[in-house]
Order: sequence, then structure tokens, then C-alpha cells
Amino acid sequence: MSVKSNKLAELGEFGLIKSLHAKCKDVSPDVLIGIGDDAAAIKPHKNNTLITSDMMIEGVHFDLSFTTFHQLGHKFLAVNISDIFAMGGVPKHFIVSMGIPPTIKINDIKELYSGIMRIAKQHKISLIGGDTCKSPNDLILSGTLLGHAKHAVTRRGAREGDAIYVTAELGDSAMGLNLLQKRQRKVLKFSHSSPGLKLMKNHLMPEPAPLKNTSKLTSMIDLSDGLLSDLSHICDESNVGALIYEKNIPLSKELKVMAKKLDMDPLHFALKGGEDYALLFTAPSNIKTSAFKIGEITGKGRYIIDVNGSKRAFNPEGYDHFK
Ligand code: ADP
Ligand code: MG
Repeated sequence: MSVKSNKLAELGEFGLIKSLHAKCKDVSPDVLIGIGDDAAAIKPHKNNTLITSDMMIEGVHFDLSFTTFHQLGHKFLAVNISDIFAMGGVPKHFIVSMGIPPTIKINDIKELYSGIMRIAKQHKISLIGGDTCKSPNDLILSGTLLGHAKHAVTRRGAREGDAIYVTAELGDSAMGLNLLQKRQRKVLKFSHSSPGLKLMKNHLMPEPAPLKNTSKLTSMIDLSDGLLSDLSHICDESNVGALIYEKNIPLSKELKVMAKKLDMDPLHFALKGGEDYALLFTAPSNIKTSAFKIGEITGKGRYIIDVNGSKRAFNPEGYDHFK
């Protein structure tokens, strides 16, 4: 048995849970029973309850050779927060289940929880429970986040004539992942002032942000699989078409600089890259918003007008676990 596995083996499951509990004591007053009992209890909120769940599996969603445990903890909760924001909701209570392989040290789990707790605090989310098991090979994380919304914004309400908006620049995360992989293979060297750092950070530690006013929105989704893929979900669910303009898709200067350096098309990352965790929504075209208008909802068909003004059909290209 290695020294690493000894450490977690020495502390044991219950010792680990106890030490995690000590890190998660800061809970909101609506948590009646938190970590430490057979189930948690929370006061019901007057608005509707939202529930979302997201898994992260080593080798599928993250690579421990280029993410720290703190970054991983941050992203793990961030992707769940993004789903609650995508419904126009407020995130409140988080439950963490873990499968831990023998290679993981106690300090790794503590770092993971420091990442979770930092973003939890930022969004006033309470960690109220979970489950802890061993896993034979890979680290497995499963998070369930509860929240509430007065009026949940679904993928189903887009109407012909609505405008299509995104809340942030797209493609940074996918380029960041590309850079992390290249750096790992030693294909690229980085200086600290490199625009690549911001892109890598966007991949490792996304910062989802809610929309302040969702009352006029007709549909919404968070950008996890890529713009073309996620917009296709809205079209499918709302039974409508879409037309988007490449020239209106917001790109960061860092993405443009890096794409140029690598002789790649930045739009490739913005359209097909995933994990931006920005919001994509539809609403009447006259609403007041700081979001970027990238196109409009049509009766049917899914098209892009490229930078030269030519029109082409698009498919839902993006990340798919089974393709
Ligand atoms: P049970 O045997 O009933 O499943 P556990 O011993 O697994 O209970 O859990 C004890 C307490 O610790 C519960 O309140 C549970 O929610 C909490 N808990 C277990 N694992 C975690 C974890 N990874 N993160 C946060 N809380 C946890
Ligand atoms: Mg349990």
C-alpha cells in the first residue's frame, strides 16, 4: 500500500466526513439540519424549488495532470450553479457525493472542498450533505444543487421574431482546454503575461453569472456543450428555427490573439467549443439588456450568416458523451 492511500485509510470514511463537516459549518438559517445526520432538513422556500445534478468524472470531465483540486472543486459547483442560473433561479443548497480512488490524499480532498466552499460562499450556498465511497480507479464527483425561482425560464418558450442573446464572450474555455492540452504535451510554452493564462483560467474556473431580470425572457439555457449544440436544444424544445450572425458573436481579444498565433479560427471555438457557462436566451428584440444580440428566432431551419454574408445551415455540433 502506498503512503498516499495509507493516509486516507488511516483517517477512514467517518474521520474524513468529520473533517469535511468542520469546513462546511457556515450554513444559512434556512438549513435546519445539515451534515451529520441521516438526512438534511431545510425550510421550504415560498417560490418553486429547482433541483439540478451534475457529475464530473476523472478522464471525462477533468484531467488531474492539469487541474488543481481547488480549481476542480470550484468548477464542480460552478457547473451546477450555471444550471440554476439557466432557469432564472437562485442557488441555495448543495449536496456532494464522491467516489474516491486510493491514489487521492486527504489534502487533495481538503483542497477540493476549499474550492467548493470558496465559490459556495461567494454565492451564499450552503453545503448540506453528501455521500462518500471508494472508487477503484477514478475520482467521481456528483453534485446536486437546490435553488428556487419565482418563475422558471425553460428551453421551451422561444417564439418566431424573438432575438437570440448570449451573456458573455464565447470560446475562451475551449481554447483554454486546447492550450492546457498543448502545454501538457509540451507543444506550447507560456510566459506569465500570456493571454493564454486568462483562457486557461476560464476553462478551469468558470464564473457563472445570473441575469438580473428574467421577466421578459422566453427561453434560456446555459452554454455547456457549445453554442450550436445548445441553441439547437432551444430550437428542438421550442419547435422553432434560428438564424445567427458570425459577426455578432462576441469573442475575447485573448481568444483572437491565441487563435491567430495557432493559425486557427476563433469562431470554431466560439461555435462548437463547450463549457463557457455563459447564458444563451431568447427575448423580444427591444428589451433592455447588456447581453450580446447574436441573431433571431425564425419559423424553421437553422442557419448561420458567415462573416462574408453567405448563409449556411448548421448542425448541433458540440460535445456529446456518446458520439
Ligand atoms: P449514511 O450512512 O446514512 O449514508 P453517511 O455516514 O454517509 O451516512 O453520512 C453522514 C453524514 O455526512 C450525512 O449527513 C451526509 O450527508 C454527510 N456526508 C457524507 N459524505 C459527505 C460529503 N462528501 N460531503 C458532505 N457531506 C457528506
Ligand atoms: Mg452515506
